[in-house]
Amino acid sequence: MVLSRHIQLVIGDITEQDTDVVVNAANSSLLGGGGVDGAIHRKGGPEILAECRALRASKYGRGLPTGQAVATTAGRLPAKWVVHTVGPVWSEHEDRSELLANCHRNSLGVAVSLGAKTVAFPAISTGIFGWPLKSAAKIALTTVLDTDAPGVEAVRFVLFDETAFDVFSDVLTKLHRE
Ligand code: ADP
Repeated sequence: MVLSRHIQLVIGDITEQDTDVVVNAANSSLLGGGGVDGAIHRKGGPEILAECRALRASKYGRGLPTGQAVATTAGRLPAKWVVHTVGPVWSEHEDRSELLANCHRNSLGVAVSLGAKTVAFPAISTGIFGWPLKSAAKIALTTVLDTDAPGVEAVRFVLFDETAFDVFSDVLTKLHRE
């Protein structure tokens, strides 16, 4: 584990983060949705959607596959770029953990290619996609700690409420003790 990587946990709104990259919990259409996705497009303005449409018209004609990540402008957001990634929908019958890990790995990979020093993640898949918070927190935090991301100095998890913040804090504390 890269325990030296600085991990920050905050309660807040992903659209207000001044990190170089904010990660969007997008859906595969890339054309907007609810939750984080809706908030990013609402506050970021039409430039983000325009770039998403261009991506649909070129590289991602069938949409962005689950677990992959792609960057656009951040429009009017304080961040420099939005990295869109599609989390897996929670399933009781199938283990999709690797896809959720891929979201974090691939988003960090895109951040590295952009030269980003700071990256903010929401709790991907834990909203409309129904992933249980504790499990999502374990996957998100272990993957970020395990992924080599040269140049990325800080990764911030932006949790929307105190419950999510407490779960992420507990999981992070336990990981540091292991
Ligand atoms: P998914 O479809 O991947 O489940 P959602 O956007 O529905 O994504 O939710 C992901 C998580 O982000 C949920 O825990 C939700 O409470 C939280 N969330 C929703 N809006 C925001 C926001 N503006 N900033 C940060 N987190 C948010």
